[in-house]
Formats: sequence, C-alpha cells, structure tokens
Amino acid sequence: MNYVIDPPRQPAVAVLGAAAKFPVRRIFCVGRNYADHVREMGNDPKSEPPIFFTKPADAVVGDGGAIPYAVNTSNLHFEVELVLALGKGGAEIAPEQALEHVWGYAVGVDLTRRDRQAEAKKGGAPWDAAKAFDNSAPIGAITPVANGSHLSAGRIWLTVNGETKQEADLSDMIWSASEIIAHLSRSWTLQPGDLVFTGTPAGVGPLGPGDTVECGVEGLAPLRFTIAAR
Ligand code: MN
Repeated sequence: MNYVIDPPRQPAVAVLGAAAKFPVRRIFCVGRNYADHVREMGNDPKSEPPIFFTKPADAVVGDGGAIPYAVNTSNLHFEVELVLALGKGGAEIAPEQALEHVWGYAVGVDLTRRDRQAEAKKGGAPWDAAKAFDNSAPIGAITPVANGSHLSAGRIWLTVNGETKQEADLSDMIWSASEIIAHLSRSWTLQPGDLVFTGTPAGVGPLGPGDTVECGVEGLAPLRFTIAAR
C-alpha cells in the first residue's frame, strides 16, 4: 500500500531470551489498584468498578534508556506496575478464561505529570495530559508465560538512586489480572499486542534530571532507566 506520508513505525517491546519483539497495539492502564489502607479501614476496595485510562502505543521506552524530563510539568512521578502483554484478543471475556489471553508479563512504570493530574481531577477534565505523553511508558523485557504459569503473587519494587521508594506484593492488588481483563473486555474488544498496566502500590514520588530508576517484579526481567535533562 502507498501512503501520502511515511507510515508510523510499529512500537515494540523486547522479549526475554528472544530476538523477535512484541508489537504494541494499545496501552490500557488501571487507576488505583492497591489499597491495604482501604481494607484496614474496614471498607470494600471493590465497591466501585476499576477505572481505566490509556497511553499511546509509542509511549513505550525500552530497558536501559535515558528519558528526557517531560515537558509541561514540574512534578514528574514514577509508578511501578505489573504489565500484562496480551497475545489473544476478545470481547466479553470471562474471568475464568482471561489468563489464556496473556502472552507474557513485564514490569513497567506509568510516568505521570502529577501537577497536570491534580488539575484534571479538580476540573473534571480528561487525564491525557497527565498520563498519555511521549516516553511515559518505560517497560522491561516481556517474560513469556511458560507452561501456563501465571503471576498472582510476588514482590514488586522500585528504587530511585538505590533508595527503595515502592515495595509491595502483587497479591495486594484489588483487581487481579483476570478480573482486569474481564472488565476491560466489556468496554473494548481486546486485541493481540495490547498492553495493560495494572496499577501501582503506595510510595509514588517525584523524579528529577540525573535520577536513576530501577524496578522489578519477582520472576521478571528488571527495568532500569535514567532521567535526562529536558
Ligand atoms: Mn498508574
């Protein structure tokens, strides 16, 4: 096919132990999904359905990159998250079948312009400026699901310049991977190549130029990146 301008390149993520890459179609993200304190307070973390937002596919940045400090913010935050990489699409997926759609898992960071998000929340405005900007989705190599073994527990952590900022367990997630996929597939026909960022535990905070971020999920390839000058 001919195009009137050069077609965009296909965004893709490295796969552990493979030369071939995982092509990215869309990036879905879950809002708050860890709530120890909600349970401690005797409330039901599942009293409301999960909230979803998206990032463009070309927001992905691979392991080892230097990411320029984002424009249009003075409060760029890290949020470490488990990422699902879908290898099979579908709509109205039952939770019991949902994990069959997961091709692999990775650790990712949902970079956030916290100042723009605060404004959006206050004004009831969309989150795009807060979440869906260039280079806002650093992600480690995807670990393929081996022999049907899925992740439901394990340590998730993030350090900045060697100092631990976030540390939790995947079993603390309010909505499990299968529940997230089931919910998403009621609003979107999911497709192979879709990524799902599953929410972050407590401890989010700011980054600045010169900072080195290292993060991981037990059993998966870790992710490391630095923040460069704007
Ligand atoms: Mn997030």
